[in-house]
Amino acid sequence: MSTFDPIQSFANLRHEFGEHGGVNMSVEASTTFTVINPTTMPEIFQGNLGPDVGGCYLYGRHFNPTVYVLGRQIAAYEGAHAGYCTASGLSAIAATVMQLCDTGDHVVASRTVYGGTFALLHDYLPAKTAVTTSFVDVSDLAAVERAFTPRTRVLYCESVSNPTLRVADIPKLADIAHRHGAMLVVDNTFTPLIIAPIQHGADVVVHSLTKFMNGASDHIAGAVCGTTEFVMRLMDLHMGSLMLLGPTMDPQVAFDISLRLPHLGLRMAEHSRRASYIASRLDELGLPVIYPGLATHPDHGLLARLVHPDFGHGGILALDLGTRERAFEFMGLLQNEHQFGLMAVSLGFSETLMSCSAASTSSEMSEQDLEEAGIRPGLVRMSIGYTGALEQRWMQLRSVLEKMGPVR
Ligand SMILES: *Cc1c(COP(=O)(O)O)cnc(C)c1O
Repeated sequence: MSTFDPIQSFANLRHEFGEHGGVNMSVEASTTFTVINPTTMPEIFQGNLGPDVGGCYLYGRHFNPTVYVLGRQIAAYEGAHAGYCTASGLSAIAATVMQLCDTGDHVVASRTVYGGTFALLHDYLPAKTAVTTSFVDVSDLAAVERAFTPRTRVLYCESVSNPTLRVADIPKLADIAHRHGAMLVVDNTFTPLIIAPIQHGADVVVHSLTKFMNGASDHIAGAVCGTTEFVMRLMDLHMGSLMLLGPTMDPQVAFDISLRLPHLGLRMAEHSRRASYIASRLDELGLPVIYPGLATHPDHGLLARLVHPDFGHGGILALDLGTRERAFEFMGLLQNEHQFGLMAVSLGFSETLMSCSAASTSSEMSEQDLEEAGIRPGLVRMSIGYTGALEQRWMQLRSVLEKMGPVR
């Protein structure tokens, strides 16, 4: 069990008032910033002055004050020294990997990662940058160890994998990475507040804020958390991936997301409570449900050592319907006849979202890669929402299961 308290860490931040004393911060909707003294400008360009040194800002693709506040808030939840936000989760991931790897360097990555991350590491980076990746089952620590080469700079995984919901043993993976002089980068999109990877030894945490963090499914956004030195490197005028590739978050978006962060803890606890209830009911019926909070899940014990006790075991579960056809029928009935949830990719919304992973978010993977990653054709991933009465939701789900007959 983790003793780090993300809620207290967030509360310890200085409150950001609006320009006129408003209870919410102001949106700094400016692309450029003036200086009073002309000698200030070269100092900012040389990195001697900045947001934390003199409160100096330069240009909107560099740091923006509103986005900077959001970055600090995300970093507080992760227990990181610093953080900054990006236009998407994938740009946070790409900028991080490209910052840590030079041409010809090597990545060891979990073979069950988000489809876009898989394509970035498997197809795009080798072709564009000669950065290559070995994909391994990160639950097999010996296989992780064997995959390292003298050029390995990054060990990459998701705290809880998508969609197979295996839990990464972050302390052990951090040990392996550090022994080889590499950095452990963890995508914590599925488990904000539940797991704080940096507290368990990870060097960098990346997020798709698009999901639970923002929670309203209205913005695409991302974040990187790590040391202050790393965040400054990302924004370096000559070699910074954020500065030079330019995945800039709009300050208005940063403001919107900042409004939803104070109730992240309430939302995560309720997503988890409901997912746990539904997973337990499915398990009692003997159905092939995957949920890391179930005692039967292979990583249940590991997860118990990593989580903060207040936020449960996550809002995502997966149910294997056997075939793609049955998965489609199941989701169609749930959405169109019972209003249980919505057939849509993504997660962390107020409503339940359902998708068949092999036919959607993991379709970047070949059939063999899918099989090796344990992503079965009929696996339906559900991000459990918090609207409606829980017992009523369970009745809707049970009706569809009864209508469809035995799963196997
Ligand atoms: C959605 C997602 C991403 C990509 O994030 P975007 O905001 O869509 O760019 C990366 N990792 C995980 C685990 C995700 O669920």
